[in-house]
Amino acid sequence: MAKKKPQIETLVVGPLMTNCYIIGSAGEGAVIDAAAEPDRIKKRIDSMDLEVRYHLLTHGHLDHRQGLNELMEMYPAPLCYHEGEDEIREGAKLRSAEFGLKWYEFPNADKFLDDGDTLPLGDIEIQVLHTPGHSPGGLTFLIEGAAFTGDCLFAQGVGRTDFPGGDWDILMKSIKKKLYVLDDDTVIYPGHGPVSTIGVEKDMNPFVRML
Ligand SMILES: [Zn+2]
Repeated sequence: MAKKKPQIETLVVGPLMTNCYIIGSAGEGAVIDAAAEPDRIKKRIDSMDLEVRYHLLTHGHLDHRQGLNELMEMYPAPLCYHEGEDEIREGAKLRSAEFGLKWYEFPNADKFLDDGDTLPLGDIEIQVLHTPGHSPGGLTFLIEGAAFTGDCLFAQGVGRTDFPGGDWDILMKSIKKKLYVLDDDTVIYPGHGPVSTIGVEKDMNPFVRML
């Protein structure tokens, strides 16, 4: 039987206009990057009538998880991310103090994810790709022809690599070896900004050189 297309809802939240995605299938839901504005996210989850099965993080940067603690209280479900993000946890806390930013406690993962893992959700499966470079534990979630790339690959852009744990060469390798090998019509849902496709980025992205 053909798998049903998942529901994909996008909310742009917080001061850095981060994309929070809600994925739904057969009444089960996953939240990717509860970035901010948990009440708005909750409203959308409830309007989709979903039971939240997972809280997923593409990575642990503050602008991708300011709504996470509150949302996890509203919907208890396992928090899943890559353990590489724990390497930058303490540094990030110090840095936010340095910049006078409000610190949001970064809860420990209930489950670490790694390349090749899969998570069942309703009628579909979430595939996990490890795409480091912007941060050590950066993940892309591949869901039925859609790639949720976090801050690894954007429409006509790539993630910054000047934060602790960032590495330009590793970022390029992630994009070329993990993302550009996907079908050209794979839709990219990045951590910030509009959607794109793998095919368009291969043609147009000015930051990724294939040679
Ligand atoms: Zn980031």
